[in-house]
Amino acid sequence: LVRLRARLARSQTSLGRGLLALLSRDHLDEDAWEEVEDVLLSADVGVRPTQELVERLRTRVQVLGTRSPQEVRDLLREELVALVGPDLDRSLRTARHDGRPAVVLVVGVNGTGKTTTVGKLARVLVAEDKDVLLGAADTFRAAAADQLQTWGERVGVPTVRGPEGGDPASVAFEAVKAGIEAEADVVLVDTAGRLQNKAGLMDELGKVKRVVEKHGPVDEVLLVLDATTGQNGLVQARVFAEVVEVTGIVLTKLDGTAKGGIVVAVQRELGVPVKLVGLGEGADDLAPFEPGAFVDALLA
Ligand code: GDP
Repeated sequence: LVRLRARLARSQTSLGRGLLALLSRDHLDEDAWEEVEDVLLSADVGVRPTQELVERLRTRVQVLGTRSPQEVRDLLREELVALVGPDLDRSLRTARHDGRPAVVLVVGVNGTGKTTTVGKLARVLVAEDKDVLLGAADTFRAAAADQLQTWGERVGVPTVRGPEGGDPASVAFEAVKAGIEAEADVVLVDTAGRLQNKAGLMDELGKVKRVVEKHGPVDEVLLVLDATTGQNGLVQARVFAEVVEVTGIVLTKLDGTAKGGIVVAVQRELGVPVKLVGLGEGADDLAPFEPGAFVDALLA
């Protein structure tokens, strides 16, 4: 939590502190509430969720009558946590089952942090004593397989890769096959994220998933989204979600943005929980997403 707090320092100033400062004014008139809305919107919370939050908060503050900064802070905390969805199932299916490894596909636009996320996640799973195998199915980007293999070596897990420019689906298939033969606990497959058009993506990513499913169902499809890309990122995320059934979102680069509200927007948009957050480039900078801790960090 301390680390999260430090890493979200930039989000704080914009979202948490901005809101608390506004809400502690003596007189909360129409303008003040509009400013509250502006702060939420500029943090990428999204129009509908912002309106809902302000509506509820406003009603509660009015009902309360007199209010101390602490009371307002508590109300704001409650409403923000409710907005983030405290009851969503954010568990990761990474346990071996039915005599075979769990299969996790990691998808998203290039540059969002897919490969880094696979490396960090491998490290988390190895720390849980799991046998992990990586599949380098991003065969388009020249350095992608090298980058993944470097992560693999750093974490101490094998990487299955194919020829550069080869068929990503075939690499993914071979990786899962190798995981089954090695009796691994989990196979993490890094995929290519060329978003030239939806049809092309369908071809590439849809095929990767279908081919991997010849070994059995895929357990998780994690969509990696760069928190700094705002509404653009959301549009791209939607395209991916239309091509494959996404089971969880990894929100990366939360350390570099004041737009923590994207958590709310993307969950609404895709109807899928944020399961992990990236808080830096280092191997330990991946954390499970926890709404209470997240909101506390915003308001700290
Ligand atoms: P990919 O093309 O989607 O596989 O993206 P990469 O994994 O190569 O990451 C792109 C860049 O983003 C790299 O420089 C990473 O170090 C950086 N990156 C990834 N995740 C995070 C994060 O959570 N925070 C920050 N600050 N940088 C990140």
